[in-house]
Amino acid sequence: MADPCIAVLKAAETAARWHADQKSKGAEGAPYVNHLLEVAYLVADATGAKDPNLIIAALMHDAIEDQHIQREEIAKRFGEDVGSLVQEVSDDKSLPSKERKRLQIEHAPKISRRAKILKLADKIINIRSIAIDPPDWSARRRLAYVQWGRDVVAGLRGASRQLERLFDEAAQEAEQAITEKSPTHSAAGKKIVMKKTKHEKEHPPKWNPGNSERGKVVGTAKHGKGHSAPRNPSKTPKKEHAGRRLKTSSQ
Ligand code: ZN
Repeated sequence: MADPCIAVLKAAETAARWHADQKSKGAEGAPYVNHLLEVAYLVADATGAKDPNLIIAALMHDAIEDQHIQREEIAKRFGEDVGSLVQEVSDDKSLPSKERKRLQIEHAPKISRRAKILKLADKIINIRSIAIDPPDWSARRRLAYVQWGRDVVAGLRGASRQLERLFDEAAQEAEQAITEKSPTHSAAGKKIVMKKTKHEKEHPPKWNPGNSERGKVVGTAKHGKGHSAPRNPSKTPKKEHAGRRLKTSSQ
């Protein structure tokens, strides 16, 4: 491969082009590439930037699902290793969303350690987005989304203590933010609060100031209906061009 820095920037530029018309689902409708850059940053930071292919895969991680880019296309541009990493974290979109959600939980313990790191970073950003710039979902639905994230991450543990800690903090913060803003759902909130460990109660986590500014993207995209915070269809015009179909998944 070329110089890692050049390759990573090339991947960022490519991802920006592929996802140019995609917005995150939150009220701000942030450009989707923000999400990809946030995930890539977490991966780079957690690995000491020693695995450039994994950073590139993070930038590409929603391209198959959201932009219908073929794995072969990614492999041709960035190598077989990147292509297979992206494939490893991509859902089979031919399946119903409920089944895809279930399979994410089932498959999480079986994927490679590198794929687990990528998936952990993706889940952190998605959960932060639910708290910071949520889609137009009920509190109950947002809480269920956070719980599903916890269920997936349970199968990813052991891959990165740093990312696991950031996920735990993000999930707790998200649950607090959702229940505080939704008094009518306090019963559900209490139920989840009771699950916190003694340590968590004594040491409530704070947002990572280095990332909170950027945690405004909602769309993960991993994930389409039901189990992700997808892009806002009203802000994502449907059109065909350049040999690829732009995703307009509605929620
Ligand atoms: Zn994602």
